[in-house]
Amino acid sequence: GAFALTGCSSERGGDTGSGGEEATSGFEAGSTIGVALPDKTSENWVLAGKLFTDGLESAGFKADVQYAPASNTVAEQQNQIQAMVTNGAKVIIIGAKDGKQLATQVQAAQDAGAKVIAYDRLIENTEAVDYYVAFDNFKVGQLQGQALLDGLAERAGHEAPYNIELFSGSPDDANSAVFFNGAMDVLQPKIDDGTLNVVSGQTAIAQTATEGWLAENAQNRMDTLLTGSYSGDTVLDGVLSPNDTLARAIITSVQQAGKPVPVVTGQDSEVESVKSIMEGIQYSTINKDTSLLVAQTIKMVEQLQKGEEVDVNDTEQYDNGAKVVPAYLLEPLIVTKENAADAYANVPSLLEIVKSYE
Ligand code: BGC
Repeated sequence: GAFALTGCSSERGGDTGSGGEEATSGFEAGSTIGVALPDKTSENWVLAGKLFTDGLESAGFKADVQYAPASNTVAEQQNQIQAMVTNGAKVIIIGAKDGKQLATQVQAAQDAGAKVIAYDRLIENTEAVDYYVAFDNFKVGQLQGQALLDGLAERAGHEAPYNIELFSGSPDDANSAVFFNGAMDVLQPKIDDGTLNVVSGQTAIAQTATEGWLAENAQNRMDTLLTGSYSGDTVLDGVLSPNDTLARAIITSVQQAGKPVPVVTGQDSEVESVKSIMEGIQYSTINKDTSLLVAQTIKMVEQLQKGEEVDVNDTEQYDNGAKVVPAYLLEPLIVTKENAADAYANVPSLLEIVKSYE
């Protein structure tokens, strides 16, 4: 059918004759799409900005891509989203800095007739989130937990029990708990049966958190753990790290303490971590190909524009406290030195790094 908004671009909200609040009314081709990304706590965010700008423009949209600055981040992101609403963006894609503090802004978006897509990180406690698109975060955590067990069996050089420590991400990121719960789904039974020993005793998520996903915070906590729980001959065999930035900070801490490098997990396939894995230092990472995630998000935007049904493949997992947000989840892949060439077969820049070590 015809789209009611076609031809009245200057009259935002003037959807007279459209099917009321039907999600299927579509909007004018060439409209502005807002993309609000958080601060650049890892390479994936840097890459996403560029991919959204290029991808949205080649799909015929006007892209308004904004990053929240490193200071005053929450308030600045709120302002950026509010400005996108005011400027008439038809879809606002949000990688939240703090998913619990955007309810007002996404409500304003919905009231203005814009659709909201939570990108990578869920937006919580509001009904005004239309879709969520991400890699399967719980699966990421499970893969990390399993990699830690596999790495310990391969590298610890002794039988169980293994001494480990646990790290999680920033508490203002909804993903952090999901990653941690996924990992603990695998690790908790091994803690309970004595295979794993968390020497510090810090197993509650609040104790393991890394504020702001900042490397320096993980490094400081690792320094403190080493001093407090690994003096003398006590060996640290493994560390659950939720991402690559923190993995490298943890490894730096251990190296500076003059201790042998433990088995350390990661996520994001950051260049420095892929090199570290190929050098046999960091044990694992996760391949969440940002270009696939951005492409899936742009596909959602195109479906919304045409008034088509939006593809989702999960309508159960992501209860944000106000509703279950329909989600499209992509499959994450575990990467170790052993499978790196296969895992990055479709990521030329990383494949090249892997090949340079062969
Ligand atoms: C992303 C991770 C990333 C972390 C820190 C999370 O929300 O899912 O891929 O490592 O943020 O930037």
